[in-house]
Amino acid sequence: MMIYPEPVENLIHALSRLPGIGPKTASRLAFYLLRAPDDVSHDLAEALAALKTNTAYCKQCLNITSAGREKCEICVNETRLPELLCVVEEPLDVAALERTGAYNGLYHVLHGVLSPIEGIGPEDLKIRELILRIQAGGVKEVILATNPSMEGDATAMYLQQQITRMGVRVTRLARGLPVGGDLEYADQNTLMRALSGRQEY
Ligand SMILES: [Zn+2]
Repeated sequence: MMIYPEPVENLIHALSRLPGIGPKTASRLAFYLLRAPDDVSHDLAEALAALKTNTAYCKQCLNITSAGREKCEICVNETRLPELLCVVEEPLDVAALERTGAYNGLYHVLHGVLSPIEGIGPEDLKIRELILRIQAGGVKEVILATNPSMEGDATAMYLQQQITRMGVRVTRLARGLPVGGDLEYADQNTLMRALSGRQEY
C-alpha cells in the first residue's frame, strides 16, 4: 500500500536507489522539493535529464567529457606529456589529481577495481583498452594510482604483471595515503607527496 500519492512515492523510490540515501533521507528530500520554489525541482530535473545525454566517455582515456567530443580536454591538451600515463579507478580520481596541479601526463580510467567478491574481473574494467593503448607505443611510465584499498592494491598488482611484461616502467603512488581511503578524499598536499614520491612497483 502506498502511503503517499504516486508521484511522491516514485520520487522517494528513485532517490533511495542512490548511494548513501536511505528511505528516510529520500522522503525528506522529496518533501523538501515539494515545498521548495518551483525552480529548485525544475533545475534539478533539467540537470538530471542532461546528465546522460550531454556527456560521453573520452575515446582515449575513458574519462567523462562533453557529448560530441572525441577526446577530453586533458587528452587534447598538447602541453601534457603522452609518455606518462596515470591509471585511476574513477573520473573523480582524475579530478582529485588535477586539483593538485602537480601532474602533467595523461590518464586512463578503469571504471572500477577488480573484486572477486562482487564478481568483477579484468574484462569488466577498461583494462583491455589500457593494454592496447600501451601497445600502441609512446608510453614510458605507467603510474598505478588505484586506491590504497585491498581491491585497489590487487588491481595494481594485476596491472603491474601485465604491463612490466611489455617493457614499460611501472610505478605506484607512494604510501602515506590513508589505507582504505579514497583518492578523491585525500587532501591536495598528501596527494602531491604521493605522486612525487611514487616508487618502482
Ligand atoms: Zn581523455
